[in-house]
Amino acid sequence: MHTLQVGSVNITALLDAPFLQSLAYLSPEHAAELEDEYRDTLDERGLCTGAVTCYLVRTADGLALVDTGIGPRKRKGFPHGRLDAALAEAGVSPTEIDLVIHTHLHIDHVGWNTYETPDGGCAIFFPNARFVIQQAEWDYWMAPEQLDAPDNAVLRECVAPLRDSGRVDLVDANARYLGAIGFIANPGHTPGHVAVEITDGAERAVIVGDSCHHPFQVTHSSWPSPMDVDANHAIEARGALYDRLADSGAYVLGGHWKHPGWGQVVRTDGERRFVPGI
Ligand SMILES: [Zn+2]
Repeated sequence: MHTLQVGSVNITALLDAPFLQSLAYLSPEHAAELEDEYRDTLDERGLCTGAVTCYLVRTADGLALVDTGIGPRKRKGFPHGRLDAALAEAGVSPTEIDLVIHTHLHIDHVGWNTYETPDGGCAIFFPNARFVIQQAEWDYWMAPEQLDAPDNAVLRECVAPLRDSGRVDLVDANARYLGAIGFIANPGHTPGHVAVEITDGAERAVIVGDSCHHPFQVTHSSWPSPMDVDANHAIEARGALYDRLADSGAYVLGGHWKHPGWGQVVRTDGERRFVPGI
């Protein structure tokens, strides 16, 4: 079990699934440079190991889960999610989660919000949680052209049922929860994408969401990625975030980086770099 202490706050990294990712897919224009730089980490097909990691944040005031992974349903191109087992290994029941916080509403971040019941219905997996979602993110994905799109079944299965349950908090980046949890607006990957900031005294950790799918983007933040809804805004937001985190002493947590995905951002010879470990 991977755990990290931020003052009195305890963070546990829960692996929903490992997956293989293509650096060329993340940055087609720089595929050759990346293959060169990361050759040691690539398998024979040129793929490197990434993860879908969710973070459990325990403060004196309650228990939050940041993002809910791929989920129990079969999703094309994704492995099966096992967050239910990871929670059990951490000794936590879904009923104990007070808050589910979403960095954004993509398919690999909302999956365990709901599950299909034996009679074909849909039930919420965290029955006592409130779900914290940025208003801008909600407005974008809940618009009819997104919600009704054939490829967006995940929104109908894992997001819309939250609205019907009346347990959604629509917030902006100024919201705070459980005494230690705040947000950093980071639009671009999606319109309401946020990083999640956990602070206690001088100690700090920042869950960066999908501002970055692989640590190379910490260094090469200006390289456009087809993963981003708005590439220009994502570049701006990514650069600002990692400038702010570089040499700050904060732990930096990337849910798609090699599990558990935490370390620090340092600046060497004017270049930002992610250094894994605690
Ligand atoms: Zn993602």
